[in-house]
Amino acid sequence: MPLARLTTIGTGGPACAFARPSTLAELEQALAWAVEHELAVATVGLGSNLLGADAGVDALVLRLGGELASVASNGETLRAGGGAPNAVCLHHARAAGLGGLEFACAIPGTAGGGVWMNAGAYGSDWSQILIRALVVTAAGSGWLTPGELGLSYRHSSIEHGQVVAQVEYRLTPRPPAEIKAEVADLIARRKATQPTNKRTFGSVFKNPEHELGAGRMLEACGLKGHRIGGAVISPMHANFIENAGGATTADALALMGEARRRVREQYGVELEHEVELLGPIALPNP
Ligand SMILES: Cc1cc2nc3c(=O)[nH]c(=O)nc-3n(C[C@H](O)[C@H](O)[C@H](O)COP(=O)(O)OP(=O)(O)OC[C@H]3O[C@@H](n4cnc5c(N)ncnc54)[C@H](O)[C@@H]3O)c2cc1C
Repeated sequence: MPLARLTTIGTGGPACAFARPSTLAELEQALAWAVEHELAVATVGLGSNLLGADAGVDALVLRLGGELASVASNGETLRAGGGAPNAVCLHHARAAGLGGLEFACAIPGTAGGGVWMNAGAYGSDWSQILIRALVVTAAGSGWLTPGELGLSYRHSSIEHGQVVAQVEYRLTPRPPAEIKAEVADLIARRKATQPTNKRTFGSVFKNPEHELGAGRMLEACGLKGHRIGGAVISPMHANFIENAGGATTADALALMGEARRRVREQYGVELEHEVELLGPIALPNP
């Protein structure tokens, strides 16, 4: 399975093995199979924060489906499979009259991907709604709290080989009409400022501890519209890279290296990438 088909940016070579477990038992079997074949494991959600190596990855890539992507609510608790898209969780929460997930309307990933990097927007993030997550490994499984998952700004302590199979969110009663109105407002704000209709992987760099955000710094360095191969720094928002046609991961990495070099020179700040790199790849050294 080419990673290009599993990522929103549409780049990346083949995974040496691919499975789509739909139950906990199938997931455990897949993890045992990987141990038997001495293969690393990487779970992919909707690939909205991922750059995969052009040469491919020497790992069993998992994409959760079926029960592991389903959503149900019980009182004020929403239980979702790790592979459940945020849009589906939000739709379910709204129908059940449960608020708290609205901030995730513009995050085009899954529950598991949200836990992995403590995804967030508009002043909220996964750590604020997550009760616990079921983390499955070849050696066993257990429910972990946000503290045990080490959730902090765009970070968790989860590693490849640990699969977020289920999550529980603590939500609060809210009229569906209010949820709908807030979501419409947040999406309109996104569309006005970010290239939501282009193939990207979301924010390229984390915001540094600086009065300017990463996007403003990159813009001030004159990077908007800068292109390498098929990858271009978004003319709309400089902290996004668009696949303008035929982009490769190498193109995106080269752009990121150039962007980091310029910000270092102009601001003395070392930008840290937010996007996850999968396979034997790294940002070019200055
Ligand atoms: C247009 C756009 C806007 C975005 N806006 C935001 C934003 O406002 N805020 C924000 O935080 N992010 C944003 N993102 C980035 C991205 O949507 C989030 O990081 C999202 O949480 C990634 O989820 P995913 O399921 O797509 O994960 P993937 O990209 O598939 O994977 C990301 C990482 O999580 C791991 N992972 C995924 N699922 C699991 C699992 N079940 N178990 C274990 N590990 C797993 C992967 O191995 C990988 O390391 C945006 C992206 C796009 C394209």
